[in-house]
Amino acid sequence: MNNFIYHNPTKLVFGKGQIARLPKLIPAGKRIMLTFGGGSVKRNGVYDQVVAALEGRDLVEFWGIEANPSVETLREAIALGKERKVDFLLAVGGGSVIDGTKLIAAGLLYDGDAWDIVLKGQAGKTVPLATVLTMSATGSEMNSGAVISRYETKEKYAFYGDYPVFSILDPETLYSLPKRQVACGLADTFVHVLEQYMTTPHQSRLMDRWAEGILHTVVEIAPKALADERDYDTMSEYMLSATLALNDMIRMGVTQDWATHMIGHELTALHGLTHGATLAIVINGTLRVLRGQKRGKLLQYGERIWGIAGGSEEERIDRTIAANEAFFRSLGLSTRLSEEGIGEETIAEIERRFTAAGDRFGEAQNVDGAMARRILEACL
Ligand code: NAP
Ligand code: FE
Repeated sequence: MNNFIYHNPTKLVFGKGQIARLPKLIPAGKRIMLTFGGGSVKRNGVYDQVVAALEGRDLVEFWGIEANPSVETLREAIALGKERKVDFLLAVGGGSVIDGTKLIAAGLLYDGDAWDIVLKGQAGKTVPLATVLTMSATGSEMNSGAVISRYETKEKYAFYGDYPVFSILDPETLYSLPKRQVACGLADTFVHVLEQYMTTPHQSRLMDRWAEGILHTVVEIAPKALADERDYDTMSEYMLSATLALNDMIRMGVTQDWATHMIGHELTALHGLTHGATLAIVINGTLRVLRGQKRGKLLQYGERIWGIAGGSEEERIDRTIAANEAFFRSLGLSTRLSEEGIGEETIAEIERRFTAAGDRFGEAQNVDGAMARRILEACL
């Protein structure tokens, strides 16, 4: 096991009716900016619950943070927050609203342009932020990462801000999710685990078992979550799985990959494809191309998650990669680039971008432009 420091300060407040706790959770005397997406929270009653809970508090609202939040919109939120001297942020929405709010939190205490913070990759001082989660996928409610787009140049990069002070997870807020969002959320959750698990074998039995516990849970609940998004117990398991998949818990002392995410971000930046949908495609190419380097973990994953036994190791790896792709298909998602009308032009652009930036991703730092091309070609 490698050395590590684990410090996750986010308080999780989980369950039905917990939005009513907001007044106790946010210190008195704060000027609170509430941040929202495009309006789903107005339609499903979450907005009403939040404003009812915070009645009498000093509130400023900012609406319109897009799915795949843009720096162009977030600059407006930062300007409004500075003008109104906001000193607490409450993100009400999915990963996009939360990620965007992490940039607002940093931008409020930064004099230059917010895009500098994204390019630096690490925020300086931040205003405290908290969340009311309405879409489970990213783990952003309990991690410090955020992914921000610049629409003007079709770029999308991650940076590290601060952890939310607290996050309210009420599974009932997920009842209004469209099925495709649930599918994308399950795919994102699953790939977060794979990016931290499908690396070098025998680093930590405990991390392996935790990761496999989340993978098993997602496989078990996926059909039910897609069939009935109003089943409280199923949505509770989905919600908590997504949070634990990316809250630093399963990465203690082990190497990580993230190449699939980095390639996926480019597909979103260039084509607007939903994040989870990009991963459901790219992960298959990653496993096919890097099967040699990931051999030990592929065998373990196949046996423990998909019950694959018998035959030669090469045959078992083939069946494992096929089972993995079949899982994403069972969510109703495409697993090939051609199904989304994406081909050579995009592959060439992603290869060019990775090469120009000198990027090298993956646990072996060998996913450069040329390797990204091979991975994408294996997804055609
Ligand atoms: P999202 O982009 O936040 O939300 C997707 C859509 O779902 C939006 O149109 C939103 O509508 C709608 N929605 C949200 N909650 C809803 C509800 N309860 N009922 C009905 N509709 C609802 O989705 P996400 O997958 O959580 O976030 C994706 C972003 O996070 C991407 O940019 C991705 O790159 C990033 N990401 C971040 C991390 C991280 O660690 N920070 C990890 C992975 C991915 P409204 O706008 O109307 O609310
Ligand atoms: Fe993700």
